[in-house]
This record gives sequence, structure tokens and C-alpha cells, in this order.
Amino acid sequence: MTDLHKYTSLRVGGPAKSIVNVSTEAEIVAAIEAAGDSPILIIGGGSNVLISDKGFEGTVIHIANNEAEAEVDACSGATLTIGAGENWDDFVATTISRGYAGLETLSGIPGTVGAAPIQNIGAYGHEVSEFITRVRTYDRQTKAIKTFTSAECEFEYRNSIFKRTPGRYIVLSVQFQIRTGEISTPITYAELAKKLGIEVGEKAPVIDTRKAVMELRAAKGMLLNPDDKDSWSAGSFFTNPIITTDVASQLPESAPRWPLADGRVKTSAAWLIEHSGIDKGQSHGGARVSTKHVLALTNSGNATADDLVALAREVRASVQAKFGITLEPEVNLVGITL
Ligand SMILES: Cc1cc2nc3c(=O)[nH]c(=O)nc-3n(C[C@H](O)[C@H](O)[C@H](O)COP(=O)(O)OP(=O)(O)OC[C@H]3O[C@@H](n4cnc5c(N)ncnc54)[C@H](O)[C@@H]3O)c2cc1C
Repeated sequence: MTDLHKYTSLRVGGPAKSIVNVSTEAEIVAAIEAAGDSPILIIGGGSNVLISDKGFEGTVIHIANNEAEAEVDACSGATLTIGAGENWDDFVATTISRGYAGLETLSGIPGTVGAAPIQNIGAYGHEVSEFITRVRTYDRQTKAIKTFTSAECEFEYRNSIFKRTPGRYIVLSVQFQIRTGEISTPITYAELAKKLGIEVGEKAPVIDTRKAVMELRAAKGMLLNPDDKDSWSAGSFFTNPIITTDVASQLPESAPRWPLADGRVKTSAAWLIEHSGIDKGQSHGGARVSTKHVLALTNSGNATADDLVALAREVRASVQAKFGITLEPEVNLVGITL
């Protein structure tokens, strides 16, 4: 029995019946097929999961394949096909060092390439869906390979067809289309523009943008760092709520409101948490609200999954009582309900 806490950025999680480490696409498919119809849990970097202290009664497949293929064209840029187990930020750094632009605002996000499309990772004004052209998967239902076009992935804010049908599609590799260049896309995120010393909508060198993003992330405990316990988290524990204009109109004037194309409004989970009376550093057992960012629930050293669940419930109840809005977890819960 291996304890799963070794595989997660929260450093919690009980034992798994068996863990298979797979480092090629063929090994991933063989491991899934060997499991038959019994439960499996796919783990990449373990940076977006909260696994129960009881562990997982089934096979854990730890994805570590990092095959890479590149087709470069002077006009359209680069088409890169990357194995699901490649480290996301190593991939971003490589694209920048080879003279490609696009992924710079997504620098420093923990985890693997294969998990990136699952919740359509995003940061500082951009989402990975802007750069994905194909996702190659193994479909556990039909027991066959299925490749999705970007449109078929049904990407939304922190969501996709893969997240909506948990466990069905195992991502084997992801294809990206990015342009050649040394200048970023327009910077749309005010905090990042300020850090770069430019106006929102202006561009900056890709290398400077990556550096600024890494510094902003480190200051918020949003870069994995064994010495910074604020980063012993799963990133944002809750998603930003999407609410109707009616609900939005009842929030205080100072609450952030980002209008969406479908008429609804996105607001800030961090703002709601902070203004509901939850403080940075507030704790329950070994679980602690990050001392830098209220949206991250962390392991201060000896937390159990139960501690984190209790703290998450406290945070959610506080926002519910103050604003009548129910926060939804962004983190994937394994053997746990909030
Ligand atoms: C400090 C910190 C900062 C973060 N900042 C951000 C951020 O800015 N933006 C953001 O979007 N996220 C952020 N996150 C969350 C996390 O980095 C992303 O969700 C990331 O994509 C998770 O990758 P992973 O490989 O660690 O996934 P895991 O945690 O291993 O898995 C996450 C989920 O995806 C499934 N999964 C993983 N790999 C596959 C696969 N190959 N096929 C099918 N299913 C799979 C798992 O079963 C699980 O349900 C942050 C996390 C931390 C700890």
C-alpha cells in the first residue's frame, strides 16, 4: 500500500490499493485496460485533487509520459503535440526558450500537460483552450482512442467535456498551436500590466511577461515551493461563481463583476470569502487558509483531508450566510463530498 499524500501538492490522501507509474502512451492504455471496469484514479501532478484520508479503493494510474512532436511553419507558427505526463511549466518554459509566444501568462501553473484541458487552466487573462487544437484520449466507455477537436472539448471557464464526464476520457496527449514571436499577446489583466509597467491592452516581451507572472504567483503562494507552506495547496479551492444579474445586483457595490457573453456575471470567490469574515491564516486543525490568498486552502504541516474538508465547509458556509451564494469546489474531490 502506498499513501497518496506523496503524490499530491496538498500532501494529504490515504493509501491506494495499487499504483501504476506509466511513462508511455502504450503503458497508459495497457494499465487502463488491465483495470477493466474497476475504479481507476488518474493522477498527474496531483495539484488539483483532495483525496480522502481513507485513500482510494482501486488502481491509481500515475501519468508520466512526455513524448513530444513539433511541426514548425514560418507562417502559422508551431504545432506541438505533447505527452500528457509532461510537466506543464517545463513545457511553457521550453516554448519560450525556443522563440514561441502565447503561453507566457500561464507560466508557473503546477501539474501536467494532460490535466491542462480537464479544467481549462487559466491565469492572468488567458486560458489554455485558446491554444489547444486537439486532445487525444482513451475513451473508457467505448474502449477506443478518441481525438477531440478544440470545439468538441466544449471548453468553458474551468470546465470541459472531460471534467463534465469524470473518469470517461483519459488524456494521452495534447496538441497546441502557438505562434513564433518574442512579444506577448495584449496584456488584459490589470495587475500584470501594472507589474510590467504598461497599460492594459499593451504588449510586452514574452520573457518579461513570464518573469512578472512568476513573481506575482510567488508573492501569492501560487508557485509550488516546498519551503512555502502557503503553496501546499490545490491552488484556488473554489471557482469564481457565475451568477444572474439579479443576484449580482444584490452584492455590495465594491464586489467585482465580470459580465459574460451569455448575460450572466462572474464574481470573485476571493472577494466573497474575504468579505464574509474569513481571514487569511484562519485554520481548522492542520488546514489553514493561505496567509497570502484567501482562495487557497493549505496544509500548514500536519493537515488531514478531514481538516481541509472542515475548513472548506466553514468557508463555504460563511459565504452562503453572508451573500446567499454557494461556492463550488474547483479542486477534484476523491472519496469526499463537501
Ligand atoms: C500552487 C497552485 C497554484 C495553482 N494555480 C492555478 C492557476 O493559476 N490556474 C489554474 O487553472 N489552476 C491552478 N492550479 C490547479 C492545478 O495546477 C491545475 O488544475 C493543473 O492542471 C492540475 O494538473 P495535475 O497534473 O496536477 O492534475 P491532478 O491534480 O493530478 O489531476 C486533476 C484532475 O484531472 C484528472 N487528470 C489528471 N491527468 C489526467 C489525464 N491525463 N487524463 C484524464 N484525467 C486526468 C485527475 O483524475 C483529477 O480529476 C494551481 C494549483 C496549485 C497547487
